[in-house]
Amino acid sequence: MSSIKNNKLQLVLMWVLLTSVLLGIVALLPVGDKVEASAEIKAAPMTAEDPQITSAALLSNQKSNKEPAPELLSEPVSETASTASVDSAIPVATDLTYDPESPLYDANAQGATVTESAVASIAAELAKAYPKTINYVIQKGDTLGAIFAQLDLSQTSLYQILEVDLNVLALDSIKPGQTLVFTEFEGELTRLELQISLAHQVVYKRSGDNGFEFEQITLDGEWREHSYIGKVEYSFAGSAKTAGLSLFEAQFIASLLKDKINFSRDLRSGDTFKVLVSRQYIGDERTGENRIDAVSINNRSRNISAYLYEGAYYDEAGLSIERAFVRRPVSSKYRISSSFNPNRTHPVTGLLRPHNGTDFAVPIGTPIYATGDGVVSRVLNHKYAGLYIEISNGQTYRTRFLHLSKVLVKKGQRIKRGQKIALSGNSGRTTGAHLHYELHMRGRAVNAMTADIPIATAIEKKQQAAFKLALSNYHAAWKES
Ligand SMILES: [Zn+2]
Repeated sequence: MSSIKNNKLQLVLMWVLLTSVLLGIVALLPVGDKVEASAEIKAAPMTAEDPQITSAALLSNQKSNKEPAPELLSEPVSETASTASVDSAIPVATDLTYDPESPLYDANAQGATVTESAVASIAAELAKAYPKTINYVIQKGDTLGAIFAQLDLSQTSLYQILEVDLNVLALDSIKPGQTLVFTEFEGELTRLELQISLAHQVVYKRSGDNGFEFEQITLDGEWREHSYIGKVEYSFAGSAKTAGLSLFEAQFIASLLKDKINFSRDLRSGDTFKVLVSRQYIGDERTGENRIDAVSINNRSRNISAYLYEGAYYDEAGLSIERAFVRRPVSSKYRISSSFNPNRTHPVTGLLRPHNGTDFAVPIGTPIYATGDGVVSRVLNHKYAGLYIEISNGQTYRTRFLHLSKVLVKKGQRIKRGQKIALSGNSGRTTGAHLHYELHMRGRAVNAMTADIPIATAIEKKQQAAFKLALSNYHAAWKES
């Protein structure tokens, strides 16, 4: 009985020793100055494959200022801790010298002690058997290609990831400060996570030998409403800032109400405004996502207001504030060659390849028209999406136009519904000339041909009661503050 116990004890001690040494070696590896959290070895193998654990790890990562998630690591990976564990491991190791079967036993050494080189070589072998995680914080001027090269990741993996990203194009808009989490296993990239915000991550996971699949993780978090009341002095933007609104929010309000009031000419000192903003929180941290719920401006004797109801803005009387969308970006004479299909799979590999848009069979050079008012947010060339445009249509919607031959607008340009923005083409990877058109609602692709988009110009009769109730709730929130 006692010998079994002894064996068990030896195994446990050996495991502790190896883990400690392993962590020590990893912490001492030289890393590029851009790799913030260095290489982390996870004690629990494959936990990174579980999106639930991953998002929990992400939250604790960000909360504790990019420290590794404590619950996923056997001990904190910091240089002092690891160095200490290497030192303290040596006396423990001498207990193992009685076991000639142990891989740590060095028969050639006098007195049968453990050699450091034996420990190091076993640690190196073990390191290969565990997934390795690298957190990379995106810097200004970074490109995905350069990041892959710097981390010594293969071009094949990069192209496989770009191929699946064609369905979301999330990696086309990486911004400084966002984090990429790479997971390598046996020298191969198995997983990449783009942390866009606390509430939004895109995960690319290797699936067999054929490539990657992706998954978007969006957390609902908690939306907290904030009320701001102010008086106009000099400019609206300045007064809004004084009241506590951000510049982005002030600009959004000005753009939302631009058809109702000229903010530079019509506003007078002494005019008042009230705004309700909902901000998203995960725990007590803001995610950066926000939404203007209601605005009311008293401009001399008249009132101008906008209330968010079912994803669109209406005035006090229930008339639409925003100009409506049209369904189709091309003339109605062209047929749809492939419909929106979130469950599409690749015919050969069987990998999930959602069709996040609607394809129109159009010959090269066909005029493409904006489906709604907005601002051009991207004009880019993608290996698979080809030349494409993204338009930000207010706070809720985005539209994308892929495989173009010519772009007729510039990034940052304000455009109107029905404006000719591009000519169709056959760029990127296609099986023939066509336009791929996408509509995104709050960051998610929806079927542009059937989605509930602001096409109506007023609240319908049967919705009047619900709209009136929403209005009185907004007014009550202002009264409270
Ligand atoms: Zn398509």
